[in-house]
Amino acid sequence: MIKLKTGASIDAMQEAGQVVARALAAVQKAADVGVSLLELDEVAHDVLRAAGASSPFLGYRPSFAPTPFPAVICASVNDVIVHGIPDGYRLRDGDLLSVDFGARLGGWVGDSAISLTVGTARASDVRLIETAERALAAGIGAALVGNRVGDISHAVGTVCRAAGYGIPDGLTGHGVGRQMHEEPSVPNEGQPGRGPLLRHGMVIAIEPMLVAGGTDGFRDDPDGWTLRTNDGSRAAHTEHTVAITNAGPRVLTARREHTTAGQGQVRADRP
Ligand code: MG
Ligand code: MG
Repeated sequence: MIKLKTGASIDAMQEAGQVVARALAAVQKAADVGVSLLELDEVAHDVLRAAGASSPFLGYRPSFAPTPFPAVICASVNDVIVHGIPDGYRLRDGDLLSVDFGARLGGWVGDSAISLTVGTARASDVRLIETAERALAAGIGAALVGNRVGDISHAVGTVCRAAGYGIPDGLTGHGVGRQMHEEPSVPNEGQPGRGPLLRHGMVIAIEPMLVAGGTDGFRDDPDGWTLRTNDGSRAAHTEHTVAITNAGPRVLTARREHTTAGQGQVRADRP
Protein backbone atom coordinates (compact mmCIF):
# COMPACT_ATOMS: atom_id res chain seq x y z
CA MET A 1 0.00 0.00 0.00
CA ILE A 2 1.24 3.47 -0.86
CA LYS A 3 1.11 5.74 2.19
CA LEU A 4 0.28 9.38 1.46
CA LYS A 5 1.86 12.03 3.69
CA THR A 6 0.27 15.21 5.02
CA GLY A 7 1.92 18.59 4.55
CA ALA A 8 3.14 18.52 8.16
CA SER A 9 4.62 15.06 7.63
CA ILE A 10 6.40 16.21 4.48
CA ASP A 11 7.82 19.19 6.42
CA ALA A 12 9.08 16.74 9.06
CA MET A 13 10.55 14.51 6.36
CA GLN A 14 12.39 17.53 4.99
CA GLU A 15 14.04 17.98 8.41
CA ALA A 16 15.33 14.42 8.12
CA GLY A 17 16.26 15.07 4.50
CA GLN A 18 18.33 18.09 5.45
CA VAL A 19 20.35 16.03 7.92
CA VAL A 20 21.10 13.72 4.99
CA ALA A 21 22.06 16.68 2.80
CA ARG A 22 24.46 18.03 5.43
CA ALA A 23 26.06 14.64 5.99
CA LEU A 24 26.62 14.04 2.27
CA ALA A 25 28.12 17.52 1.88
CA ALA A 26 30.46 16.80 4.81
CA VAL A 27 31.47 13.43 3.36
CA GLN A 28 32.11 14.97 -0.03
CA LYS A 29 34.30 17.64 1.52
CA ALA A 30 36.26 15.02 3.44
CA ALA A 31 36.67 12.54 0.57
CA ASP A 32 40.26 12.99 -0.51
CA VAL A 33 43.29 10.93 -1.47
CA GLY A 34 44.43 8.87 1.53
CA VAL A 35 41.19 9.15 3.51
CA SER A 36 39.67 5.80 4.48
CA LEU A 37 36.07 4.76 3.95
CA LEU A 38 35.73 4.16 7.69
CA GLU A 39 36.83 7.75 8.31
CA LEU A 40 34.11 8.95 5.93
CA ASP A 41 31.58 6.81 7.81
CA GLU A 42 32.64 8.59 11.00
CA VAL A 43 32.18 12.01 9.34
CA ALA A 44 28.58 11.09 8.50
CA HIS A 45 27.99 9.58 11.93
CA ASP A 46 29.09 12.85 13.56
CA VAL A 47 26.43 14.75 11.57
CA LEU A 48 23.78 12.26 12.71
CA ARG A 49 24.78 12.61 16.36
CA ALA A 50 24.86 16.41 16.20
CA ALA A 51 21.33 16.42 14.73
CA GLY A 52 19.95 13.92 17.26
CA ALA A 53 19.14 11.63 14.34
CA SER A 54 19.68 7.90 13.92
CA SER A 55 20.73 5.70 11.03
CA PRO A 56 18.28 3.54 9.08
CA PHE A 57 21.31 1.82 7.50
CA LEU A 58 23.13 0.71 10.67
CA GLY A 59 21.91 -2.76 11.61
CA TYR A 60 19.61 -2.94 8.58
CA ARG A 61 19.08 -6.52 7.48
CA PRO A 62 16.85 -7.10 4.47
CA SER A 63 16.05 -10.65 3.42
CA PHE A 64 18.99 -10.93 1.01
CA ALA A 65 21.61 -9.90 3.57
CA PRO A 66 23.60 -12.49 5.52
CA THR A 67 24.59 -9.94 8.19
CA PRO A 68 23.20 -6.62 9.48
CA PHE A 69 24.70 -3.61 7.67
CA PRO A 70 27.56 -2.42 9.91
CA ALA A 71 27.82 1.29 9.01
CA VAL A 72 25.86 4.52 8.47
CA ILE A 73 27.01 5.07 4.87
CA CYS A 74 27.32 2.81 1.88
CA ALA A 75 30.68 3.56 0.28
CA SER A 76 30.95 2.13 -3.22
CA VAL A 77 34.28 2.56 -5.03
CA ASN A 78 34.86 2.31 -8.80
CA ASP A 79 33.19 -0.91 -10.06
CA VAL A 80 30.99 -1.19 -6.98
CA ILE A 81 27.49 -0.04 -7.90
CA VAL A 82 25.86 0.19 -4.46
CA HIS A 83 25.90 -1.25 -0.90
CA GLY A 84 29.68 -1.10 -0.42
CA ILE A 85 30.63 -1.60 3.24
CA PRO A 86 33.05 1.06 4.55
CA ASP A 87 36.39 -0.45 5.53
CA GLY A 88 40.02 0.60 5.89
CA TYR A 89 40.45 1.17 2.14
CA ARG A 90 42.11 4.53 1.56
CA LEU A 91 40.91 6.54 -1.41
CA ARG A 92 43.32 6.84 -4.31
CA ASP A 93 43.83 9.53 -6.91
CA GLY A 94 41.28 9.01 -9.68
CA ASP A 95 38.83 6.89 -7.69
CA LEU A 96 35.09 7.21 -8.28
CA LEU A 97 33.17 7.05 -5.00
CA SER A 98 29.41 6.68 -4.54
CA VAL A 99 28.05 7.45 -1.09
CA ASP A 100 24.52 6.48 -0.07
CA PHE A 101 23.22 7.78 3.24
CA GLY A 102 20.01 7.85 5.25
CA ALA A 103 18.86 9.56 8.43
CA ARG A 104 15.86 9.00 10.69
CA LEU A 105 14.64 12.06 12.58
CA GLY A 106 11.35 12.39 14.43
CA GLY A 107 10.41 8.97 13.09
CA TRP A 108 10.82 9.98 9.44
CA VAL A 109 13.48 8.84 7.00
CA GLY A 110 15.49 10.73 4.36
CA ASP A 111 17.55 8.86 1.75
CA SER A 112 20.02 10.30 -0.76
CA ALA A 113 23.19 9.39 -2.66
CA ILE A 114 25.99 11.13 -4.54
CA SER A 115 28.84 10.06 -6.74
CA LEU A 116 32.08 12.01 -6.73
CA THR A 117 35.63 11.79 -7.96
CA VAL A 118 38.76 11.83 -5.82
CA GLY A 119 41.81 13.85 -6.82
CA THR A 120 42.37 13.97 -10.56
CA ALA A 121 39.19 12.76 -12.21
CA ARG A 122 38.97 10.66 -15.35
CA ALA A 123 37.00 12.45 -18.06
CA SER A 124 34.89 9.30 -18.49
CA ASP A 125 33.93 9.35 -14.80
CA VAL A 126 32.91 13.00 -14.97
CA ARG A 127 30.66 12.18 -17.92
CA LEU A 128 29.20 9.17 -16.12
CA ILE A 129 28.42 11.15 -12.96
CA GLU A 130 27.02 14.12 -14.86
CA THR A 131 24.75 11.75 -16.75
CA ALA A 132 23.57 10.19 -13.48
CA GLU A 133 22.76 13.68 -12.20
CA ARG A 134 20.88 14.51 -15.41
CA ALA A 135 18.96 11.23 -15.12
CA LEU A 136 17.98 12.10 -11.56
CA ALA A 137 16.90 15.60 -12.60
CA ALA A 138 14.83 14.12 -15.43
CA GLY A 139 13.18 11.70 -13.01
CA ILE A 140 12.39 14.50 -10.58
CA GLY A 141 10.97 16.53 -13.46
CA ALA A 142 8.51 13.73 -14.18
CA ALA A 143 7.46 13.37 -10.52
CA LEU A 144 4.21 15.24 -11.11
CA VAL A 145 0.72 14.70 -9.78
CA GLY A 146 -1.25 12.87 -12.47
CA ASN A 147 1.81 11.19 -13.99
CA ARG A 148 2.59 7.55 -13.26
CA VAL A 149 5.68 5.84 -11.85
CA GLY A 150 6.46 4.66 -15.37
CA ASP A 151 6.87 8.28 -16.46
CA ILE A 152 9.65 8.73 -13.90
CA SER A 153 11.24 5.41 -14.90
CA HIS A 154 11.08 6.31 -18.57
CA ALA A 155 12.63 9.73 -17.97
CA VAL A 156 15.52 8.24 -15.99
CA GLY A 157 16.11 5.33 -18.35
CA THR A 158 16.05 7.46 -21.48
CA VAL A 159 18.92 9.66 -20.24
CA CYS A 160 20.99 6.63 -19.20
CA ARG A 161 20.48 4.66 -22.41
CA ALA A 162 21.03 7.68 -24.69
CA ALA A 163 24.51 7.97 -23.17
CA GLY A 164 25.17 4.26 -23.75
CA TYR A 165 25.23 3.24 -20.11
CA GLY A 166 23.86 0.09 -18.49
CA ILE A 167 21.09 0.05 -15.89
CA PRO A 168 21.50 -2.67 -13.25
CA ASP A 169 18.66 -5.18 -13.46
CA GLY A 170 16.14 -4.97 -10.66
CA LEU A 171 17.81 -2.21 -8.58
CA THR A 172 15.17 0.46 -8.06
CA GLY A 173 14.05 3.51 -6.15
CA HIS A 174 11.23 3.21 -3.64
CA GLY A 175 8.69 4.91 -1.47
CA VAL A 176 10.05 6.59 1.68
CA GLY A 177 8.33 7.44 4.95
CA ARG A 178 8.56 6.04 8.44
CA GLN A 179 10.32 3.13 6.77
CA MET A 180 13.28 3.52 4.44
CA HIS A 181 11.71 1.21 1.87
CA GLU A 182 8.00 1.59 1.24
CA GLU A 183 5.82 1.09 -1.80
CA PRO A 184 5.92 1.79 -4.66
CA SER A 185 9.04 0.48 -6.35
CA VAL A 186 10.49 3.12 -8.71
CA PRO A 187 12.44 1.37 -11.50
CA ASN A 188 15.14 3.16 -13.49
CA GLU A 189 13.64 2.13 -16.80
CA GLY A 190 10.03 1.76 -17.87
CA GLN A 191 7.07 2.63 -20.02
CA PRO A 192 5.45 6.06 -19.82
CA GLY A 193 1.86 5.99 -18.62
CA ARG A 194 2.32 2.70 -16.74
CA GLY A 195 2.48 1.88 -13.06
CA PRO A 196 0.96 3.52 -9.98
CA LEU A 197 -0.60 6.96 -10.34
CA LEU A 198 1.42 9.77 -8.72
CA ARG A 199 -0.68 11.58 -6.11
CA HIS A 200 -0.21 14.59 -3.87
CA GLY A 201 1.47 13.38 -0.68
CA MET A 202 3.51 10.52 -2.14
CA VAL A 203 7.19 10.56 -1.14
CA ILE A 204 9.64 8.52 -3.16
CA ALA A 205 13.37 7.99 -3.55
CA ILE A 206 14.46 8.30 -7.17
CA GLU A 207 17.88 6.72 -7.61
CA PRO A 208 19.52 6.20 -11.00
CA MET A 209 22.39 3.69 -11.04
CA LEU A 210 24.53 3.74 -14.19
CA VAL A 211 27.13 1.27 -15.47
CA ALA A 212 29.79 2.83 -17.70
CA GLY A 213 30.45 -0.36 -19.70
CA GLY A 214 26.82 -0.63 -20.75
CA THR A 215 25.99 -3.97 -19.11
CA ASP A 216 22.93 -4.49 -16.91
CA GLY A 217 24.11 -7.54 -15.00
CA PHE A 218 25.99 -7.40 -11.70
CA ARG A 219 27.36 -9.73 -9.06
CA ASP A 220 27.70 -9.65 -5.32
CA ASP A 221 30.83 -10.06 -3.23
CA PRO A 222 31.11 -12.84 -0.65
CA ASP A 223 30.02 -10.30 2.00
CA GLY A 224 26.50 -10.54 0.51
CA TRP A 225 26.14 -6.76 0.31
CA THR A 226 28.64 -5.27 -2.17
CA LEU A 227 27.22 -5.22 -5.72
CA ARG A 228 29.76 -4.92 -8.55
CA THR A 229 29.43 -4.44 -12.28
CA ASN A 230 29.79 -7.63 -14.28
CA ASP A 231 32.12 -6.03 -16.82
CA GLY A 232 34.45 -4.40 -14.28
CA SER A 233 33.55 -0.93 -15.53
CA ARG A 234 32.73 1.89 -13.15
CA ALA A 235 29.30 2.78 -11.83
CA ALA A 236 27.61 5.93 -10.54
CA HIS A 237 24.63 6.39 -8.22
CA THR A 238 22.59 9.51 -7.46
CA GLU A 239 19.48 9.72 -5.30
CA HIS A 240 17.05 12.19 -3.80
CA THR A 241 13.99 11.80 -1.61
CA VAL A 242 11.20 13.68 -3.40
CA ALA A 243 7.70 14.63 -2.27
CA ILE A 244 5.07 14.75 -5.02
CA THR A 245 2.80 17.73 -4.38
CA ASN A 246 0.19 19.78 -6.17
CA ALA A 247 2.81 22.56 -6.25
CA GLY A 248 5.29 20.25 -8.04
CA PRO A 249 8.12 17.97 -6.90
CA ARG A 250 9.79 18.96 -3.64
CA VAL A 251 13.33 17.63 -3.19
CA LEU A 252 13.55 16.93 0.54
CA THR A 253 17.26 16.02 0.46
CA ALA A 254 18.39 18.98 -1.69
CA ARG A 255 21.89 20.19 -0.92
CA ARG A 256 22.68 23.86 -0.81
CA GLU A 257 25.73 23.63 -2.97
CA HIS A 258 25.44 21.73 -6.19
CA THR A 259 27.84 18.84 -6.04
CA THR A 260 29.34 17.25 -9.06
CA ALA A 261 32.38 15.44 -10.29
CA GLY A 262 35.44 17.11 -11.66
CA GLN A 263 35.71 19.92 -9.16
CA GLY A 264 39.43 19.37 -9.29
CA GLN A 265 41.57 18.44 -12.23
CA VAL A 266 40.30 16.18 -14.99
CA ARG A 267 42.55 14.10 -17.19
CA ALA A 268 41.73 12.42 -20.45
CA ASP A 269 41.28 8.66 -20.30
CA ARG A 270 44.21 6.59 -21.43
CA PRO A 271 43.53 5.02 -24.82
MG1 MG B 1 19.87 5.48 -0.58
MG1 MG C 1 17.10 4.50 -1.61
